[in-house]
This record gives sequence, C-alpha cells and structure tokens, in this order.
Amino acid sequence: MNSDEIILGVHNKIIGYPGTGKTTLLINELIRLRNNFSELRITYLSFTNEAVNTARDRLFARTDGKSVVFGTIHSIAKRVTANSRKLIHWDTRNCEICKSSCEYHLREFAKLYTSWYYDEEIKLDYTFTKYTLKMDGLYALNKNFNEPVFDMTLHYALSSLIVSNFGSEVFDKQIIYRINKLVSQIDIPRYSLLTSLEELMDFTIEWLEYKKNNGLFEFDDLILHAMDKSLDTDILIVDEFQDLSTLQYQLISKWGENIDTVVVAGDYNQSIYGFQGGTPQFLLDFECGHKIVLRHTYRLPRKVLEIAKDILQDENGFNSVYSNRDDGDISRINLEEIDINQLIIEYDSIFLLCRTNRQIKELDNKLNNLFRNRLSIAERAAYARMLNLYRNRQRGKINELLKQHSGRGELFLLAMDNGLTLQQLEKKFSVLQMKTIHASKGLEADIVILYDQSDRDMYSDEERRVWYVGLTRSRGSLIILQEITRKRTNYLSLIQ
Ligand SMILES: [Zn+2]
Repeated sequence: MNSDEIILGVHNKIIGYPGTGKTTLLINELIRLRNNFSELRITYLSFTNEAVNTARDRLFARTDGKSVVFGTIHSIAKRVTANSRKLIHWDTRNCEICKSSCEYHLREFAKLYTSWYYDEEIKLDYTFTKYTLKMDGLYALNKNFNEPVFDMTLHYALSSLIVSNFGSEVFDKQIIYRINKLVSQIDIPRYSLLTSLEELMDFTIEWLEYKKNNGLFEFDDLILHAMDKSLDTDILIVDEFQDLSTLQYQLISKWGENIDTVVVAGDYNQSIYGFQGGTPQFLLDFECGHKIVLRHTYRLPRKVLEIAKDILQDENGFNSVYSNRDDGDISRINLEEIDINQLIIEYDSIFLLCRTNRQIKELDNKLNNLFRNRLSIAERAAYARMLNLYRNRQRGKINELLKQHSGRGELFLLAMDNGLTLQQLEKKFSVLQMKTIHASKGLEADIVILYDQSDRDMYSDEERRVWYVGLTRSRGSLIILQEITRKRTNYLSLIQ
C-alpha cells in the first residue's frame, strides 16, 4: 500500500506544509475512495466557504462529485441540529440574506445595553474596526487594568471567571472574542465601556438574554447544540484542522468517536487564530493510526523556505521540508523606493500583506498606485486611440491626448512603454491585492510584499507563525517593505 493513502477504519493525520500539495492529495484520495468504496458516505469539512467551494470545484472538474457531502463546520452543524432559531452575525460581512436583520438586532442590543448614553447619531462601523478589535479589545482591557501590554494571562483570567459564573453554556475562550466584538459595536468611548469584570459579566448576561428573548443564535451556539447530535457519515475529512476553535475541536472530537474513518489535514504552523482559542496542539496532538507528512514544497523557492525555517524555529518537522527551486529573490526596500506600478506591470499576481487592516488603509494612501481605480469608458477609448497613434509614431497627438487625461497620463505612458494592449492594461487592475496576513491564508501569489511594521511589541509563537503564513504565500520573490520612521517587527529582522 502507498503510504500516502488514507487508511480506512483508523484516524488519519495529514501534515501539509505550504505548497506541498495537501489539497491535491485530498482530492485524489476523495476520487479513489469514491471509486473503490462507493457504498461509503463521505463528508468533507473545511473552515471557510471559499475553501469548501475550491475543493468541491476541483472534485467536480474530475468527477460528478455527487456522493460527497461538502460543507463548513457551521453548515454541517446547522444541518445536523435542524435548528429553527435565527442566526445572528456579529460580523455582517458573513451575512447572506440576513444582513438587515442582523444589523437591526445589533443596533437594538447596543441601544438596550448603552441606553444611558445612547445617541441616535451613532453609526455602527461594520467594515473596518471589527477585525482589528480582536487584539485591540484585549489590549484596551489591559489598559483599563493598568497592564502594560496584551498578555494571555488576562485572557485566561477573564475566561475562567466567565466559565465559573456561567457554566457550560459559555465555557469557551471564544467568549472573550465575542465580548470584544460586542464592545466594538458601540462606537462611543470605545473602551470605556468595560472598566471592570462586573461590567464585563453584565454585558455577557445581557447578550445571552437578548438572544434568548429574540430567538437568536450565534454560530457558537450552533456548535454547542451540535455536540448532542451525531454526524451520519462513514468517512469524515476535516481540512485546515489547525484553524479550529476550541469549541469546534471539541465538536469534531465528539463526532469522531462514532465515525470509522476520520482524516484531519493541515499545517499546525498556520494556526493563527489564538484569539478564538485555536492552537497548533490540536493537530500536533491528534492521535492517529496513520500519519502522512508532505515535505516537498512546490510553491516555495529554497531561499524563501530557509527564511521561513529561521523565523519559525519549529521543532516538529518543518525543518525537513525541502524545495528544488533556486529562483526567487528576497529583498528589503524602503517605501519611498518601491515602484509599485512597475511591479504591477511585471507580475500577474501580487500580494501586499499587512499585519492589520489599519495598516492597509494607511499604506494604500501612501502608495502612488496608479492601478487603484479602473479606467472609465472615456479613458479606455483614449488609451485605444493612443495605442494607434503610438504604433504610427504620432508623438505630438499622443501628448495632446495625455493632456486631456492628465490624471492618468503616467499610467498610459507606462502601459504603452511596456507594450500593453487595452485588454492587458485592464487586467492589471486586479493584479495587486492588499490583504491582512490573516486574510491571505490558503492563498498564493507570484510575489509577496510584506509590510514590515509592528504597532506594538508582540513576542509570541503565534506572532512568529503569522509572519510565516505571510511569507509562505509567495510562489517566487519576497519583498520586505519598510518605513524608516516606523517600528519594524522582530520577526523579519533576519531579512536585511
Ligand atoms: Zn447575518
């Protein structure tokens, strides 16, 4: 038997380091199992809708894929519990048809809880502040407790306090995460709200009651309810296992007790959701009868791989990963010197990765990115005319046209000098993607630009892993972007 095959009747663990073909292996195995054991029911779970859809599409591209059940943990949990309560999202970006209802409830709850200073003018900021809150919220709590910096001790202290007061209904560290989000809903003195543990508890109780009174549930409630049910399948595959929260991990473990073949797959080093209770240990400690370790990275050039090893200092196996590729450059560059437009012309996909959403906003304002807004119809017509003139060497007329479109003149010249057709130029507008490192997980690009800035000192293994996730998104080169006036992170100091 091929040792890279899933073995039936036992628990399997697949460790897939970046670019080692984990998903490909899983898809191949899905096809093999389906063909050879068509009577077995297979359920495939992953963390995000995007990951689930990718896997489903890849399977459908090769077979009809019909006898495999695909889903996120939440969608499968919802099916299993047949829950009739209404879902509420704190992050309304996750809403599908429920957005207006979710916003209504969040506003109502904010009003209820903050009635003594509620102001009709308050606008809930759903788009930007929410995600920066996770860490910032705790940080702010720390400030209220006169602690110097974020530390896990407080996190655990609060968790255990809540556990002892509320029992099993909110027994998970996740609660802290949710409370931070609650705080973020209320735009007024953002952090002054929770100045004591008592207030923190009040806050939580209010929310639990509000949910109950209004027939609402959150994803975590769903997971809790699903623990009492069993998942009806013969083979359970869980991809991106390192992303599970504590609660989700408990659910999968519980379900796994009654399933013959369980396959968990992931890269423990990509566990970067500590604020939701995720940890590399879930994957590292998972007991299995068969283990597959994928060590050959096709994505990462050798140089990038070596840097990743130095930053990570992982003693659980990452050092044995290898690459046969000698391409790819690593460089460090100052913000004033980076020619982002030239890079966009040269490459087909670029990630510019930041640690926080706020950094993305700031950096986006500083970059002279000519590809920020797509061409208007008039500009497209103008470029088409210019190309014609360019071919006929009618410089004078080009200059006239450039004057009429002075705002875009530089872009047109750059594109013409690089021989871009109108169609090619249009495509360039989607080349650069600015993301947080967290949002880049599972994705890759031709070149990665990592913005080397740290808002505060963070010394932790998780922080190490976050930078590792960022730099291992590159299929080729890596650029470390720095600003002389800004504080750099410790973890990229190896790259000079
Ligand atoms: Zn919603």
